[in-house]
Amino acid sequence: MENNTRFLLNESDLPKFWYNIAADSPVPPTPVLHPGTMEPVTPDFLSVLFPMDLIMQEISTERYIEIPEEVREVYKLYRPTPLLRARRLEKALDTPAHIYYKYEGVSPSGSHKPNTAIAQAYYNKIAGTKALTTETGAGQWGSSLAFACSVFDMELEIYMVKVSYHQKPYRRNLMEVYGATVYASPTDRTNYGRSVLAENADNQGSLGIAISEAVEAAATSNGAKKYSLGSVLNHVLLHQTVIGEEALKQMDLANEYPDVVIGCAGGGSNFAGIAFPFLRENLKNGKRARLVAVEPTATPSLTKGVYTFDYGDTAKMAPIVKMHTLGHDFMPPGIHAGGLRYHGMAPSVSALVDAGHIDAVAVKQRETFEAAIQFANAEGIVPAPESAHAIRAAINEAMDAKAKGEKRVILFNLSGNGNFDMAAYENYLNGKLEDFEYPAEAVQEAMKKLPQVSF
Ligand SMILES: *Cc1c(COP(=O)(O)O)cnc(C)c1O
Repeated sequence: MENNTRFLLNESDLPKFWYNIAADSPVPPTPVLHPGTMEPVTPDFLSVLFPMDLIMQEISTERYIEIPEEVREVYKLYRPTPLLRARRLEKALDTPAHIYYKYEGVSPSGSHKPNTAIAQAYYNKIAGTKALTTETGAGQWGSSLAFACSVFDMELEIYMVKVSYHQKPYRRNLMEVYGATVYASPTDRTNYGRSVLAENADNQGSLGIAISEAVEAAATSNGAKKYSLGSVLNHVLLHQTVIGEEALKQMDLANEYPDVVIGCAGGGSNFAGIAFPFLRENLKNGKRARLVAVEPTATPSLTKGVYTFDYGDTAKMAPIVKMHTLGHDFMPPGIHAGGLRYHGMAPSVSALVDAGHIDAVAVKQRETFEAAIQFANAEGIVPAPESAHAIRAAINEAMDAKAKGEKRVILFNLSGNGNFDMAAYENYLNGKLEDFEYPAEAVQEAMKKLPQVSF
C-alpha cells in the first residue's frame, strides 16, 4: 500500500459520525447575539431560519453526532473521496517532503460543499420545510445546495452576487439544471435589495448583501421557507468533518502521519473539515500536527482582521458572533479572483486561532495561481482558485523542508476543482491579475461600525 499513489477507502469505511470540536475545544464557546437586542439569541429566533435539528447541532457539545442513514446514502454517490500522494509534484519540486492531498472535487458540484448541503437539505426535509433560500458568490455553494435540494425534492431560491451572475453563466446554468431559481443580487425582491438599489442602481453585489436578501426572504415567508448557509456556522463545520475522519484512516493506509495539515479558509468550513479531527488527535492523543489555515492577502480576515463581535451580514439581520472580521460592510477588491471573500471567519476557527491552536497565513494572488498551474501540470487536476491557496502553502512547506533537508509529511485539502473557474485562469494567463494587500487602515476604519455589545 505504501507505494500507492491513491489511498482509497471502501463504502463501508464511510464515517458513521460527524466530529464535534465543541466537546474537546480548549476555548469556551462565545455567545451568539441577536442583531437587534444584542442579547444572546434564543432557539426561537434561530428557528425562523433553521430547523430544530440544525439548531441543536449548532449548540451541541456532544463529541460525536450520528450521520443519518439517508444522508450517508447520498454521500455514497461520491464518498469516501480519495487521498492522493502528490508524487509527481514532489518530484517537480525535488523535495524530500511527502505531500498528500484529500480530493473533495469528486463531488457532483466539484467541491466539499455538498457534505453539508446534503445534511441541511435532509434535516429541513424531515422538518417539513418546503423551500430553502440561500446566497452564493462564485456559485459553488449555490450549485451544491441545488443538487442537495433536487435529491430531497425541495425548492430552492438563490441570491447570486450580481457580478458572478453575469461572469459565471455556467455555474448559474448548473443550479438551474438542478431545478433552483437564481436571482442576481441585489434584487428588487426584498426590502434590503431595493434599498441598496435605490442608493446605487449599478451595485454589483457582495456576499454580505446576498446573505441579507436570502435571510430576509426566509424570515418574511411565514415559515414557508428556511435559510441555509454554506460555511461559518458550527453545524456546517461539523458536517465537513467527514473529510478529516476519512483522511485519518487514509494516512493510516499510507503508513504516515502528517506533520502539517493545511486548508484554505473563506468561512472556515473545508479547513475545519480536514483539521478538526487532527486537532482532536493533538488534544487527546498526544499527536502534534501543525494546523494551517490559508487565506488571500486581499481578504485577510484571520491575519489582519480583528477578533471581536460583528454582524454576520451587511444589513445586520443575521446574528452577531465573535470572530475575526474585516467589518460587516467589507467589499472585496474587484481585482481579486480567488474566492474566499467573506468578511468574517467561523467563530470556532477564530477562537482556536486566537488561542494559538491553529496557525493562519495569507498568500498573494499571483503566487497562488502560479502554484495552481504548477499543481495542474504535475498532478493533472486544475484546482479551484480557493483550493490553490492551500496548494501555495503546501508547496511553501515542501520547499522549506527541502531547504532544511527534512522529510516533512504534508497533508492539504484540495477542496474543489476549477472546472467552472476558467475565467479566473484566463485572467491570470493574460496577466490581468495583480497582487493586493488589504490595507490595515481600512480594517481600522471598519471597526468604527462594530455593534456595541456588552460581552
Ligand atoms: C466555498 C469554497 C471554499 C471556501 O469556503 P470554506 O467554508 O472556507 O471552506 C473553499 N474551496 C472551495 C472549492 C469552495 O467551493
